[in-house]
Amino acid sequence: MHTYGLRHENAQQHSKSALTLMAQLGVVPHPDNFLIFYSYIAGTNPDMNQTIDILLSNNCEFDELQCKAIHDRFFGAERERKIIGRITEDLRLQINDTLSNVQKIGIDTSKYGKALDHFCDYIASRDFSNLEDSLDSLLGATRQMEGANHSFENSLDHSSTEISRLRQDLANMKREAMTDGLTGIANRKAFDQQLRKEAMSAMEHGKPMSLLLLDIDHFKNFNDNHGHQAGDQVIRLMAESLQRNVKGQDLAARYGGEEFAIILPGTGLGCAKQFANLLRQSVETHKIVSRTTNKVIGSVTVSIGVATFKFGEPLVRLIERADQALYHAKSKGRNQVASERDIATDTAECSPDVTQNKNVDGKTANQRCA
Ligand code: GH3
Ligand code: MG
Ligand code: MG
Repeated sequence: MHTYGLRHENAQQHSKSALTLMAQLGVVPHPDNFLIFYSYIAGTNPDMNQTIDILLSNNCEFDELQCKAIHDRFFGAERERKIIGRITEDLRLQINDTLSNVQKIGIDTSKYGKALDHFCDYIASRDFSNLEDSLDSLLGATRQMEGANHSFENSLDHSSTEISRLRQDLANMKREAMTDGLTGIANRKAFDQQLRKEAMSAMEHGKPMSLLLLDIDHFKNFNDNHGHQAGDQVIRLMAESLQRNVKGQDLAARYGGEEFAIILPGTGLGCAKQFANLLRQSVETHKIVSRTTNKVIGSVTVSIGVATFKFGEPLVRLIERADQALYHAKSKGRNQVASERDIATDTAECSPDVTQNKNVDGKTANQRCA
């Protein structure tokens, strides 16, 4: 009871603060917008709060489009549920329609069967006095059956088109749910799924699998100096570059904010570290050109943490080690690569468990273990 009272009071406060903030920012008091700002005040969605903070610090307007974009990005699951609800409802209607058509054609067929039986009895009686009437009624029943068949075929055609459309809607929704809105590469959900799949496959085939976590260095400064939109452009460029450099079974994903992850199946720690270093160099040498002025506005660097999967361990452990390695790379001065092994030894090393060649921007990583 006491907790409920507290929660109720909090909710009232959050609600009031959300409405006040919305009024200050000139946000339309729409339920979707209230959801955004209530969650912002309650702090239930840190990623969203970070985005809103960036927008606020850049004095961005929270107009209809902006709010819709935020709602779509952070409350997409709500939208997904609505789309699934609609698809399920449409499918239910289609199934009911088809069933009632099947039932109807069943009744029509049985009626036609009776008409045929009747005519057979008539022929068997050898009394052909009403032959014309009997033939007329058989013709009438046959035409009726033909008509019923035709409309049944049409309704089946219609159902099959509708069901194909619904299947396409579902496929689109699934693809959207796995894609990061800003960059178009795999999102966190796709990453989690793929990591589970690759971990199973690594254990099944006894092959290594490594993970890279990348974080753009001092990105807050970049945003502060060049604006949030230029920052977004850098995130897109980074995603493009990672996507270009991963091959085959590898997966590059936006892990969140200015962080990315790369899954490297069939790749040991040493090789993964070499690859990470080539990636790091490639980012470092890339010049960023302003879209508005067409002038070079500088470059960014990344720090990368590398860890390799221990068969059977929970995947959060693997991610944790890659994250610790990333933290280590940051603490060594940024624009660095650190592997989980470096945390203990802090010496450059090159693992013999190399199983796959990696290639970045045309530079081969083959020499790495020579
Ligand atoms: P560090 O080298 O320690 O990683 O420093 P940092 O400034 O990159 O790290 P910090 O965690 O302090 O800040 C991350 C910044 O990334 C905060 C925010 O300005 C920026 N950021 C996160 N997501 C986005 C995004 O989607 N777009 C833009 N433009 N900036 C983002
Ligand atoms: Mg970060
Ligand atoms: Mg950073």
